[in-house]
Amino acid sequence: MQDHRFILSSQDIPHAWYNIAADLPELVPPHCHPATGKPLTPDDMKPIFPDSLIEQEVSTERWIEIPDEVREKLAIWRPAPLIRAVNLEKHLKTPARIYYKNEGVSPAGSHKPNTAVAQAYYNKQAGIRRIATETGAGQWGSSLAFACDLFGIECKVYMVKVSYHQKPYRRSLMQLWNATCVASPSQDTNVGRQILAKDPDTTGSLGIAISEAVEDAASHDDTNYALGSVLNHVCLHQTIIGLELKKQLALAEEEVDILIGCAGGGSNLAGIVFPYVKDVLDGRGPKLIASEPSACPTLTRGKYAYDFGDSVGMAPMACMYTLGHSFVPSGIHAGGLRYHGMAPTLSLLHKLGAMEARSYHQNAAFEAGVMFARTEGICPAPETNHAIRAAIDEALKCKETGEEKCIVFNFSGHGHFDLYSYDKYLAGELEDYDLPQGNIDKALGELPVAHVD
Ligand SMILES: *Cc1c(COP(=O)(O)O)cnc(C)c1O
Repeated sequence: MQDHRFILSSQDIPHAWYNIAADLPELVPPHCHPATGKPLTPDDMKPIFPDSLIEQEVSTERWIEIPDEVREKLAIWRPAPLIRAVNLEKHLKTPARIYYKNEGVSPAGSHKPNTAVAQAYYNKQAGIRRIATETGAGQWGSSLAFACDLFGIECKVYMVKVSYHQKPYRRSLMQLWNATCVASPSQDTNVGRQILAKDPDTTGSLGIAISEAVEDAASHDDTNYALGSVLNHVCLHQTIIGLELKKQLALAEEEVDILIGCAGGGSNLAGIVFPYVKDVLDGRGPKLIASEPSACPTLTRGKYAYDFGDSVGMAPMACMYTLGHSFVPSGIHAGGLRYHGMAPTLSLLHKLGAMEARSYHQNAAFEAGVMFARTEGICPAPETNHAIRAAIDEALKCKETGEEKCIVFNFSGHGHFDLYSYDKYLAGELEDYDLPQGNIDKALGELPVAHVD
């Protein structure tokens, strides 16, 4: 029997992250201050981030060393396996070869611990005792809770109230890893108290939760803030995925033709594609595909412009594809893909034509996820289903043309905490929303103005 699993040893965990800023044909425009619109200075970020992460955020060094303590913790589950989806290939009757990099094997079940561990480490080094963050569906909150616990840092998670009640098991995980998780808005911050005074029954939002976490970090000397996606240093930490993939494809004696990831804030996609981008820019790399929900089509229908990172205008502005910070996506089940913006580096690559983007309705995505579960056995996260859909579509194209392409996608996480949404899909109760152009135009009409020379 042929080998279909490509497994590396702990020694193969990369010793350095790859920083794409060294190889971009133009610089990513600087992040700007939300109030003045002027480029952020490192001093602006100091109240909430450690110096080491601020340096990484603006660095143009090609390789940034991964500290041994971080590699040791990553070794709890890394290197993540690369698996050839032979049963899915057979089911599709495609001549294409389909591989997936399984990031669902991490303790929290997704790629997010790759950056959570690094961020917890650098905060610990800087003498930080406590980290505050927000979480929507709970993937990021549980990843950071796990990472903070490894380094003995207190973790406070502001979880959007509606998810706090709807996804109790993600909250259980955070508590298991010694984090404190409160429903947001909470009584613990000024922002939270003000909102609750006006509207005690509010369901909360990611924007409110971000505001609470940032206020918490800015008002406590021993506390920092951490973000799970979008920022340069987060994408940097995720490149460990693509770097491992290169070694595994060499073992499999393959060269990838099509590389796919789902895109919310862009970190798992960045992680798998960045190590291939130099080749793409030089005209000899794989085709790169970003797959996003039709209900939140940032790359396919958004605009390349400066916008706030959060939904209320308190977080810095970034130059990126955006649907407008006031855009509110419909309640699709892929909670991790409901962000209005996109990582600035990925956005620039898309603007330069180095990457393709496509969008799928949630029924099409779930159909792909169910097919994957029934052939390969693993139940994917609703976010991951978007990547699987794109991989299946590419494999079906190969079936038509007879081409034997090598398709690789990032399996960003498992769906064991998302079975409620599978219930809905299997009962035929999931809705596809057609997003009116007017909703996008309205939010894009409220973009802020940055002042960069
Ligand atoms: C958070 C999440 C995503 C989306 O975030 P990115 O920053 O775009 O990677 C995708 N898949 C899973 C499983 C997630 O938890």
